[in-house]
Amino acid sequence: MQLTVLGSSSKGNGYILSNDTESLVIECGARFSDVQKALDFNISSIKGAVVSHEHGDHSRYIEQYLRMGIPVYTSQGTIDGIKFKQIRRPKVISHGRKFMVGNFKVMPFDVQHDCREPLGFLVFHPEMGKLIFLTDTFYSDYVFKQLNHILCEVNYSDEILNENIKGGKVHPSQRKRLTTSHMSLKTAKQLLSANDLSSVNNIVLLHLSDRNSNAGQFKQEITAHTGKPVYVAQKGLIININKEGA
Ligand SMILES: [Zn+2]
Repeated sequence: MQLTVLGSSSKGNGYILSNDTESLVIECGARFSDVQKALDFNISSIKGAVVSHEHGDHSRYIEQYLRMGIPVYTSQGTIDGIKFKQIRRPKVISHGRKFMVGNFKVMPFDVQHDCREPLGFLVFHPEMGKLIFLTDTFYSDYVFKQLNHILCEVNYSDEILNENIKGGKVHPSQRKRLTTSHMSLKTAKQLLSANDLSSVNNIVLLHLSDRNSNAGQFKQEITAHTGKPVYVAQKGLIININKEGA
């Protein structure tokens, strides 16, 4: 199983979990044509797409996916927050209700973001093991057992944000929004400490802020904090996410 990153920023988010026969897309913030290219036009392998929340960088292209006949799964709150031009709608999922997409077992859970009914996803596949997908949330109360792969937002650090506000690069009003909608480096570390990392093969840092982050520093600090292989999600990143490691 492979993870392919199509984008991981406020410009657009898209991720694919795939093997030769089936794939699950996470987020519809990248064009469907990007998914086609990444899968070498093997679109019959796409079993579905899940979307975490209504913001455009995660949901902008939902209708392209629906038009191509891809089942898209998201919360009722997210559907209510999107203006659809066509009649097709995503399938409704909700916190705590497991569902299957091919052989992917998906458990949605609620997260803390500034929109209606945002979700995180715990995804299990026999080849991949357990993967957690957590983005656009300023914390998570949940603790997960025996995770094999962690995809977690690390949007900003308090130090860089403070410097940017002091230097006039970021408006002070942004602080309130960021700290109650996105995850800081400090919170990500706390979250990683709270979870059992003994079976974790990969940690992938998602959705770094353009202004308030430092990819090299974040990667180094999370590596030191966890002792695990750490990647920064960037367009074009492909990593092996088999359960047994590389
Ligand atoms: Zn968002």
